[in-house]
Amino acid sequence: MGSTATRTRRTRRRQLLGGAAATAVLAALAVGVSGTPSADTVLRTLAAAATSDTTADGELAAGEALSPFDDEAPAVRKLDGPLLDAVRRAARDAQAQGITMTVTSGWRSKEYQQRLLDRAVTRYGSLDAARRYVNTPEKSTHVAGRALDIGPTAADYWLIQHGARYGLCQVYANEIWHFELRTDPGGTCPPQLPDAAG
Ligand SMILES: [Zn+2]
Repeated sequence: MGSTATRTRRTRRRQLLGGAAATAVLAALAVGVSGTPSADTVLRTLAAAATSDTTADGELAAGEALSPFDDEAPAVRKLDGPLLDAVRRAARDAQAQGITMTVTSGWRSKEYQQRLLDRAVTRYGSLDAARRYVNTPEKSTHVAGRALDIGPTAADYWLIQHGARYGLCQVYANEIWHFELRTDPGGTCPPQLPDAAG
């Protein structure tokens, strides 16, 4: 999907981030020092540079959302084929009803999943508490490419209502954004688990 122009721009951006991120950050800092306003530019450049190191792990920047039709981002590209097909069909139908569906997290490397778990342990105070929200790399269906998190909320509710048509089901009662293929298209979703530890 996407025009040649879009592809070219994306490729260039990735090359910049991958190869010359440090240079770009320094350049932005220099502009800032010279007096031209550039706190904002510097922050955005730093954020982009940080992102470039982890994109290959399937990590998205805070607030970033991908199109389910993105053929380049590892978070989308490395999803299991049937899941990707299902969400793309759902996204087309949702769009026809005015609901834009985005992927806020998809495939994740084991390393990224471990980072998420580590952060959750810090935040919630214990591994047991963290496990209610974040799975281990061994158990996470995101690592297997068989889960995705959908946004925004309007798209979550659309998919909760219509997802079974595509085989897509909300799995955890405490995560309205997390969907997996859990039934045949047109089937019935199994009962939800209370949380990721369930
Ligand atoms: Zn999830």
